[in-house]
Amino acid sequence: MNRPLVVDSVAALRAQIRDWRRDGVSLAMVPTMGALHDGHISLIRIALEKADRCVVSIFVNPTQFAPSEDLDKYPRQLGRDLDRLAEAGAQLAFAPGVAQMYPASFATRITVGGPAAGLESDFRPTFFDGVATVVAKLFLQASPDCAVFGEKDYQQLCVVRQLCRDLDLPVDIIGAPTIRDAHGLAMSSRNAYLGDAELAVARQLNAILRRAAAALAAGADEGSATAEASRALIEAGFDKVDYVAARESLTLAPWRRNRDGRLLAAAWLGKTRLIDNVEVLSA
Ligand code: AMP
Repeated sequence: MNRPLVVDSVAALRAQIRDWRRDGVSLAMVPTMGALHDGHISLIRIALEKADRCVVSIFVNPTQFAPSEDLDKYPRQLGRDLDRLAEAGAQLAFAPGVAQMYPASFATRITVGGPAAGLESDFRPTFFDGVATVVAKLFLQASPDCAVFGEKDYQQLCVVRQLCRDLDLPVDIIGAPTIRDAHGLAMSSRNAYLGDAELAVARQLNAILRRAAAALAAGADEGSATAEASRALIEAGFDKVDYVAARESLTLAPWRRNRDGRLLAAAWLGKTRLIDNVEVLSA
């Protein structure tokens, strides 16, 4: 099991990738914020099926956190992450410090419309600007052939696709299925915040969404199906529901019956905000 090469500067990242490119290898990228779990590892495995080498970025990106959010307490565990990357077979880890990504003079921000509108943006209005900015930087730094993103963050995946289309970034975006625990809970670095009682509640999120998606597919009215899901989440023990909404899978425009859809939700358990989504099959 080989530990990956670890670099923390853009110059060292580019030097390594330039070496590889000279030998004609293809490169996949997996951007992460670290605290790696099986969901991240699944993306690396897909990346290594698509390309000869995989670079994983580990960077808790401050520009996607609002001042009220959990930037300071977000889990950071580089040593353990590197062990997991070795297991998964990733060859290169890019773990820059904040000053490397955002020097004091930094003054650019990318704003994406379309799929970024609504849902998460209604509650985290600056989130996708931060994501788009850091993803654009990572792609320009590493120039990968493809990059793998999880469907767990479904709106983010749509936003990144839009970003690449709009800015002609020549990176093939691959969406990867959500990895869940045995009870259906989507793996997330933020699950570490949950106590045992909260974990039991969190594990009901996916089943409630699947039930609502099945009701929609069977002809239920969208307003009642999503309201019923919100009610069920509160009854299960969630403290607050930010949204439960059905959207068209590709554009995230309002869902129309007989179109492939996605049911997306965000809800709070104490101070922890969880998101999940499921497919809505067209009739
Ligand atoms: P994060 O470190 O949370 O920013 O996530 C990095 C990447 O891993 C994103 O593309 C996420 O969508 C993806 N990811 C996070 N959790 C999961 C999961 N449970 N299954 C699949 N992909 C995931």
